[in-house]
Amino acid sequence: MKRTLLLTPGPTQVPARLCEVLGRPIIHHRTPQFQAFLKEAVEGLKYVLKTQNDVYVLASSGTGAMEASVVSLLSSGDSALVVEGGKFGERWTELCKAYGVKATVIKVQWGKSVDPAEIKKALDADKSIKAVFVTHSETSTGTNSDIEGIGKVVKNCAAVLVVDAVSGLGVQDLQTDNWHVDVVCSAAHKGLMLPPGVAFISVSAKADALMAQSKLPKYYFDLRKYKKAWTQVDTPFTPAIGIVIALVESLKMIKETGIDNMLSHYARLAKATRAAALGLGLTLFADESAISNVLTAVKLPEGIDGDKVLKMMRDTHGISVAPGQDAIKGKVIRIAHMGVIDEYDILTGIACLEKVLKQLGHKFEMGAGVAAAQKVLNP
Ligand SMILES: *Cc1c(COP(=O)(O)O)cnc(C)c1O
Repeated sequence: MKRTLLLTPGPTQVPARLCEVLGRPIIHHRTPQFQAFLKEAVEGLKYVLKTQNDVYVLASSGTGAMEASVVSLLSSGDSALVVEGGKFGERWTELCKAYGVKATVIKVQWGKSVDPAEIKKALDADKSIKAVFVTHSETSTGTNSDIEGIGKVVKNCAAVLVVDAVSGLGVQDLQTDNWHVDVVCSAAHKGLMLPPGVAFISVSAKADALMAQSKLPKYYFDLRKYKKAWTQVDTPFTPAIGIVIALVESLKMIKETGIDNMLSHYARLAKATRAAALGLGLTLFADESAISNVLTAVKLPEGIDGDKVLKMMRDTHGISVAPGQDAIKGKVIRIAHMGVIDEYDILTGIACLEKVLKQLGHKFEMGAGVAAAQKVLNP
């Protein structure tokens, strides 16, 4: 029987301890038992988000939290600023378009991250901007944003800072309060190691004030409903009960290790993965200055089709990585090091990549990737 190893940036692997919880019979959500779980989940999320802000739990994938932030903060014809450096940055623009929000777009070359000074320039040029939408870890390129630097710029303006941290949360540092992030959108099926179905969103006082004035049409994703329900430790609609209960356990696991120890763990795995790629004579897609610890986008040599590499790794060997999208389709594979992944998983993935690259005719010394990774992991 073939193994299944997910080195993908969502969904990620679900550890046995969480599978056990997910397998329990369901309980009703309007009960003191579920309220206790919901309360504990929100407390745990605040710990991972490093925030004292309110956190609302939604039944959706990550994009639902993004949509909730747009419709709950803004009104038709409002201006927003979007940073677009990959597929997920583009999602912010598409959401703004769908709701008639005027988006000024800062286009960043894929693989690079935005200079906070660019954001300052745009905000100085247009004082009517109400929200700045950025991506924490851009999953399509393996790039990290300087959220701390961006927060310093936005905090002095009328606009709120909204961060898509769907893939980055729990993997790459995000200090919501210290970095003045007003709204964070994230979900449970990436760094938090659960099946898809739960998203969540943190809201600062500044964002809450904007929410009170918002006039965009909305119903299911109206965060004011979630705010009101929370005064009774409740959700306005049926939550993803089983996943919320498992989320409590996942957050316990993170707390046992310590969030900052988790971040160091992923930094170490990311460094080993980058070393392995270079050891195999490959190059990295993201700029060195902006590289993410969430996933590594590896450029493949001319003549080797990334989609074929991905298919062989998955279908023959049971190891999943992610493809390049749009302009980098076939040219890049993305290896994620997030969720319940350890150094042996990474070494296994690299060994498999070596085997497939050799079969496809790439010239390198067999074992060079694994050796380079080992030098980082076990110096
Ligand atoms: C996965 C992801 C999302 C949300 O995707 P869903 O499929 O809706 O969960 C949003 N932003 C980033 C950066 C992501 O990696």
